[in-house]
Amino acid sequence: MTDSPARVAIVTGAGRGIGAAVARRLAADGFAVGLLDLDESAVKAGAEAIVAEGGRAVGVSLDVSDADQVEAAVTRVAEELGAPTVLVNNAGITRDNLLFKMTENDWDSVLGVHLKGSFLMTRAVQKYQTEAKWGRIVNLSSTSALGNRGQVNYSAAKAGMQGFTKTLAIELGKFGVTANAIAPGFIATDMTAATAERLGMDFEDFKKAAASQIPVQRVGTPADIAHLTSFLVSEGAGFVSGQVIYVAGGPKD
Ligand code: NAP
Repeated sequence: MTDSPARVAIVTGAGRGIGAAVARRLAADGFAVGLLDLDESAVKAGAEAIVAEGGRAVGVSLDVSDADQVEAAVTRVAEELGAPTVLVNNAGITRDNLLFKMTENDWDSVLGVHLKGSFLMTRAVQKYQTEAKWGRIVNLSSTSALGNRGQVNYSAAKAGMQGFTKTLAIELGKFGVTANAIAPGFIATDMTAATAERLGMDFEDFKKAAASQIPVQRVGTPADIAHLTSFLVSEGAGFVSGQVIYVAGGPKD
């Protein structure tokens, strides 16, 4: 259990995959959780499952790249659960293609969800954090930030998340707010399943091939990311800020 059971956390992209696992983990840690996602039925079901287990949660649908929807969703969480002081910017999409085939829409939508979405969410939540003089921000980056064929849009966005995180740490530190980025390697979710499909590979074969290249010889799970998130948002992690932590089963640089 957390040492701060009354706190309220918001997780974006909580409808499935990593975000859903993070939301469940933070609820198990004692946080009240606002689950935000494009998919309304998924976050409602996720919130209901948390409530059924004795937690507090609300599911709200939004597009994180829309400023009005972001403000409305954050206000709703604050009204229903209390002031949100933990934010996990996890919502994400891929629109992979080689540079010469990539459309402006592929570029704008990926940068829009990851970077603009995280900016809008963080701007909306920071007022509760600075008022509370306490806060935790966790941003999802990726090993793709280091470069990955077919992902100029996504790798630019995920590298951008790292600069965004470090600057948040500098600006918000004096308010008791930390900001850190988690940069996962291969995590088995719908996102990596879609990559396998795009490459014409069976997902199980794709995971086996990936695992053989990873020092710990397995692919990651959403729970691996939820575990680190749980640490980064804890009271005891207050001196860890502005870091990018690769969770990839081996070293990255
Ligand atoms: P996922 O299974 O595809 O889930 C992403 C979630 O984000 C979905 O529920 C999706 O909603 C939601 N979402 C997308 N656009 C949104 C928007 N505009 N507003 C609100 N919600 C939106 O992905 P994942 O694998 O869990 O990835 C989660 C995060 O980790 C992403 O930021 C991703 O880039 C990052 N990451 C993943 C991996 C990996 O290997 N899986 C590796 C490195 C980093 P819908 O269901 O409605 O589409």
